[in-house]
Amino acid sequence: MITKKILKEIDKDIKGISIDKFINICLYDKKGYYNSKKPIGSKGDFITAPETSQLFGDILGLYIFYIWRQKYNTDFNLIELGPGNGSLLIDILKITNNYENIHKKFNIHLVEINKHLMNIQKENLIKNNFSYLNIKWHKKFTNISPLPSIVIGNEFLDCLPIKQFQRKNHKWMEKYINYDYKKKIFRYDDKLVKKKKLIERLLDYNDCDFIEISESRENYFDSLCKFIKKTRGTIILIDYGYFNPPNRSTIQSIYNHKKSNILENLGLQDITSLIDFKRLIEISKKYKLKIDAFCTQGNFLLNHGILERKKKILRKCNQKQIKQIESGYKKLVNKNYMGNIFKFLILSND
Ligand code: SAH
Repeated sequence: MITKKILKEIDKDIKGISIDKFINICLYDKKGYYNSKKPIGSKGDFITAPETSQLFGDILGLYIFYIWRQKYNTDFNLIELGPGNGSLLIDILKITNNYENIHKKFNIHLVEINKHLMNIQKENLIKNNFSYLNIKWHKKFTNISPLPSIVIGNEFLDCLPIKQFQRKNHKWMEKYINYDYKKKIFRYDDKLVKKKKLIERLLDYNDCDFIEISESRENYFDSLCKFIKKTRGTIILIDYGYFNPPNRSTIQSIYNHKKSNILENLGLQDITSLIDFKRLIEISKKYKLKIDAFCTQGNFLLNHGILERKKKILRKCNQKQIKQIESGYKKLVNKNYMGNIFKFLILSND
């Protein structure tokens, strides 16, 4: 189904379709990956930080409680973008449960495109006795009441499609995806960049011959900044990404826990790419938001007490649980796992 749809689009242009259009259909079409059943968790295709260890949600929950009390101390929106199985939210709710009735102040908004995941989130909230809370689901980041807001997104922006550009013989070419009808395979093609605005932007990257730009990510982030500018609040984004462009393709696809080729298994596999945090920070400046943190996941968690929290939990654990907690901790913090490549970007407007 997806293949047919992509071929139909490809046939419209001799060069095929742009990568962002291709990713968009693969992920967000009715039959696309994000409408498929269960992408996340140990039985799904990939495992995220909150699925790795409760310590991640514990530290974020404590941070959220702390900034809420310091800065807002009133009714507020807790908005999560792409909550997956709901694990992060549940860990945040568990750790904040004992504090000053904060849950009564929560207006929880979950922005989720995947119907199956939405149901899993509902089931998990019921299982953990949190379904009585004021929780609303949204397919898009719209219609959210203008209260002070804390917005969290873990591995959310990396889903949004990107375009890729390569400099060849002093000219910028955009990478397109085309179909070889003889060999019956998808392949890459190059299309000369002609749009003046785009050429001007690409000229900023003097030191690179390979650049990725995500219009949909930039637009989404822009709307988050605009919202926070209006309502007051804090945006907490955690994702894998860079500050200086790595000068190579960062597209990754995962099929059954293994790295795969994006031109295969169309609609059946996750496709993500690294976030250009420098660009997001530039956008946030337009709205004069304050940067509360921009650092690696390892540094954020260590600076906000993950070691102390781990020690406290370990006191009540048996041998098997100790092993599990230690292994989760290592994955979150260690430079060779998620500690370095994942970044925290926290912005606020108070
Ligand atoms: N935050 C979760 C899940 C990350 S996977 C965790 O850390 O475990 C990405 C999540 O974003 C999934 O829930 C997916 O269905 C959702 N998603 C992806 N693109 C989306 C979009 N454009 N709008 C809303 N939700 C989206």
